[in-house]
Amino acid sequence: MQGKAVSEGIAIGVLSIYRKLAHNPGMSKYLGSVAEINRLAVARIQAKRELESLRIKASMEGNEAGASLLGSYIVMLDDPAFIDAVERRIGDRHMTAEEAVESARDRIYELFGSMDDPYMQARAEDIRDISDRVIRNLGGSVQITPNLTDDVILLAEDLTPSDTMQLNTDRVLAFVTKRGSNLSHTAIIARSMNIPAVVALDYPEGCEGKLAILDGYNGELIIDPDEATLERYRERKAELEERARILSELKSLPSVTLDGHHVGLLANVGSAPDIKKALELGCEGIGLFRSEIFYLDRDDYPTEEEQYEAYAEAVRVLDGRELVIRTIDIGADKQVPYLQMKHEDNPAMGMRAVRYCLGHKDVFRTQLRAIYRASAHGPVSILFPMIISIEEIWQIRSVINEVKASLDKDGLKYATCKIGAMIETPAAAMISDLLAKEVDFFSIGTNDLTQYTLAVDRQNTELEFICDYHHEAILRFLKMTIDNGHKEGCKVCICGELAADTSITADLLRMGVDELSVTPASLLKVKQAIRGIRIS
Ligand code: PEP
Ligand code: MG
Repeated sequence: MQGKAVSEGIAIGVLSIYRKLAHNPGMSKYLGSVAEINRLAVARIQAKRELESLRIKASMEGNEAGASLLGSYIVMLDDPAFIDAVERRIGDRHMTAEEAVESARDRIYELFGSMDDPYMQARAEDIRDISDRVIRNLGGSVQITPNLTDDVILLAEDLTPSDTMQLNTDRVLAFVTKRGSNLSHTAIIARSMNIPAVVALDYPEGCEGKLAILDGYNGELIIDPDEATLERYRERKAELEERARILSELKSLPSVTLDGHHVGLLANVGSAPDIKKALELGCEGIGLFRSEIFYLDRDDYPTEEEQYEAYAEAVRVLDGRELVIRTIDIGADKQVPYLQMKHEDNPAMGMRAVRYCLGHKDVFRTQLRAIYRASAHGPVSILFPMIISIEEIWQIRSVINEVKASLDKDGLKYATCKIGAMIETPAAAMISDLLAKEVDFFSIGTNDLTQYTLAVDRQNTELEFICDYHHEAILRFLKMTIDNGHKEGCKVCICGELAADTSITADLLRMGVDELSVTPASLLKVKQAIRGIRIS
């Protein structure tokens, strides 16, 4: 059976279906609006308590991704729009609390689910999960946690973080869900657990208990495989395990070429727990901290204090190693409702990244204050996305001066931060000689540089066949940027996906790139490539 692969790996095991407890909202009688609203309030408190204990459990198990998702569920339970939608149904339409939650849930689910944005579609599943938890609490029924005693490939309609948190995940070899996308929680959690997962696979109910193979590379579920297939997959699994073992031996070895050139190997991350993972895999620092993560998945701007704590935690975890924080790159494919950005016909070329920040200096200043305050605890560099001119750097420097003056006034400490420009527009690459005089370092974002140079939308899967990251135009821009950077003493890093493409690592090193910053999962593979290259 074919689904969509969202987390790599091979699993061979028995299939087990996770069925959620059914509820019957038609059961209770309408007790009047005051009584129903009170019942709703009690059920919401109980649901929050359950989620809080699951969140603590996740956190204690080191599952920070799950803990933070559960934290966002707790916040959603207090969302005034959600509460209002339910209470209006109780008051105006005389629905019982159960019926009202179910009706509001279906409406919001339909609304989010019909949006084009896969991120919002994934949020529709969150609404379903928190609503069902409230309904369960209204019915007084108890959540049944499947007691997994054997290692299984777990099948489910969909799995929410609270589902997975209640499972004995040590026993789960892989996940398969009927619904979901690359951004759904099953995908995120499976990747963080480093186990295979396939979504959008319509498995038959009768397959429970059968032996199966799940291929997390091509999205195939093979139920009742014949002996020859089984043998083929066992061999492939053993090969992958051997490869992983060899790679893991590289963790503590230096990132140097055969002829002794050191190449900085850094990680791209979005949170402090990701940094811990990247350090365990032997990275030398963080080359790209995507700070917009703090702005997504919430209802209001993060405060200076919240951001400061997150950045300071990152600095603390890195313990003196390099940390490059990129200021928010919001807009284009990363939309945030509370920023109330105007509709744009062409958002990829619109009010995004540093353009947004320079047009909303209050938001920009808040983030820069938080970053500078964190710099008091260890080395921090600041990277600015979507630069197209030196005038932007001057404007940025002037905001930085204001921020430093305000910190001085408040008696808050900060250190000197290196200032870097992302080279991800053709304009920035073409004037990299001028930009190099204005900044301390460059970081080349090959994802956007390719999109804008080739005029190919990076999200358009139908154009994938011409979205050539090795295009001669890109290679010339890379060489030009590296040479121009070096002439002015700027270090040059590549932080786009190309940095993890080992088929081109030798060329990048021969061009003279100083650092490569890649997703944590690619660190060892890139280190292996670097260690096998002779530059001269
Ligand atoms: C890039 O454009 O290459 C990059 C690293 O930034 P993002 O993928 O976040 O746009
Ligand atoms: Mg970019």
